Amino acid sequence: MVEPIRMSSEEERMEYLEIARNNPFLLHSENVIIDLLTDSGTSAMSAKQWAGVMEGDESYAGSRSWLKMEAEIREQTGCEYILPTHQGRAGERILYGHLGGAGTIFISNTHFDTTRANIEFSGSSAIDIPIAEGKEPSLEYPFKGNMDTEKLEELITHHMPQNIGAVILTVTNNSGGGQPVSMANAKAVGEICKKHDVLFIMDSCRIAENAYFIKHREKEFENHTYKDIAKEMYRLTDGAVMSLKKDGLVNMGGFIALKDPELAEACKNLLIITEGFATYGGLSGRDMEAIAQGLKEVFRPDYLRYRIKSTGFLGDNLHKMGVPIMRPTGGHAVYIDAKAFYSHLPVDQYPGQALVLDLYKKGGIRAVEIGSVMFGTYDANGKLIPSPMELVRLAMPRRVYTQSHVEYILEVFQELIREKDNAKGVRIVKEPKFLRHFTAHFEVMG
Ligand SMILES: *Cc1c(COP(=O)(O)O)cnc(C)c1O
Repeated sequence: MVEPIRMSSEEERMEYLEIARNNPFLLHSENVIIDLLTDSGTSAMSAKQWAGVMEGDESYAGSRSWLKMEAEIREQTGCEYILPTHQGRAGERILYGHLGGAGTIFISNTHFDTTRANIEFSGSSAIDIPIAEGKEPSLEYPFKGNMDTEKLEELITHHMPQNIGAVILTVTNNSGGGQPVSMANAKAVGEICKKHDVLFIMDSCRIAENAYFIKHREKEFENHTYKDIAKEMYRLTDGAVMSLKKDGLVNMGGFIALKDPELAEACKNLLIITEGFATYGGLSGRDMEAIAQGLKEVFRPDYLRYRIKSTGFLGDNLHKMGVPIMRPTGGHAVYIDAKAFYSHLPVDQYPGQALVLDLYKKGGIRAVEIGSVMFGTYDANGKLIPSPMELVRLAMPRRVYTQSHVEYILEVFQELIREKDNAKGVRIVKEPKFLRHFTAHFEVMG
C-alpha cells in the first residue's frame, strides 16, 4: 500500500495544534507528515495478508478463519484455551477485571497504560518493579526490561500470595522504553510465581521483537529460531494477553491465551457478554485471516532484522547528534529523555509534552509523551507526583517508513537541538480521571 503525505507549513501546524488543544491525540491524521504516535495497528499488511482478507469466513460460529487463527496462537503459546478479542485492552479488561477487585494487587516489570487503567478500574492496584538499570535512560544494559525478582519475592510475601491477582511480565517493556526481557529473567519470575502459587501472565504484544534481542544478546539462545525462543518464553507462563496490533502485524485484534480450564471458562463467559461469541470476539473473519498470516510473518528472520535495525538507525543517529535517548535503542521505538533534553523545564511543566509539541510544530512529526502526563498523579494537596522518567516515544510503524523518512526526522531534530534552550513548558487545563493523556487539554506557558 502507498499513501500520499500532505505537506503543511509551520503556521498551519500552529493552528492545527490550537484546535487540538495542544494534544496530538486530537490532531487529524491528514495533518501529520510522519506519524510516530504509535506502532499499534499501523503496520502495512503483506500481499498474503490481503489475499487472506478476501477469504475471510464471516460465519457467526465456528468460522474457518477463527480455526486458523486459533491454531496459530495455540501452537505458539502452547496454551489450550484461546479467546479472541478486538484488541489488547479488551482482553485485559476481561482477565484482570476477573482476577482483580478491591484488596488485590498486580505486579509487573512495568504495567502498560491500558493495563494499569483496567487493573485500577477494577478496584485493584498495580505495582511496577523494573530492575534499577531500567530506570537509568543513558545506561547501556542488554535487558533493561527485566523485572526485579528480589522485590517480587518481597512483595508476594508481604501482600500474601492469595491477594496477588497476577504477575505480569511485559515483553518488550513498552512503557519502560521498549526494552527487552531476558529468558533468564522470565524463568526466574516463573519460578517465584510457581513457588508461591501465583498466576504468571505474559503481556506478549512484542514477543517477536523480544525474541530477536534474546537470540542476539543471550548466548544460550544464539542457535535457536525466533519462534522457538517465543515458544520457550510462553512455556514458562500460565498464559498471555496480546494486542495483535503490534507483533500480529494487523490493524486490529487481540487474544487471551490460558492453560487453566476454569479461568478460561470464566473469561469466556465475560467475553460473550461484551466482545462477542467465543469464535470471533469482536473480530471479522477477514481480520482473523490476516492475524493467522501476520503471526507467521513476524518471526521471519529477514523481517525481524530489518525491523530492529531500522529502529536502531534512528536511535543511533539521534544519539550521535547528542540527543539524550534511552539506551540501547529498543525494538519498536526510540525513547527520548525529555528531562535531559529540555533540562531547564521542571517536571510539573511536562518537558515531554513540550517536546512532543515542538516536534509537531517544527516538522509535522507526531510522537507521544510517556512521562508525567501519562503516569503522573496528584498528592492530597494537588501537587504533581511525577513519573520516574519523562520520555517521548517515537514509535515506528511496521513496514511503513523508509530510510528517507527517517532522515527527514533527523533533520527536524537538528533544528530542535539549535532551539532547545528556548523551549517552553506546558500546563494541563482539562483532564479526565483515567488515561488523561488521550483527551486532556494543554496550554503552552508564556
Ligand atoms: C498496546 C498495548 C496494550 C493494549 O493493547 P490495545 O490493542 O492498544 O488495546 C497492552 N500492553 C502493551 C504492552 C501494549 O503495548
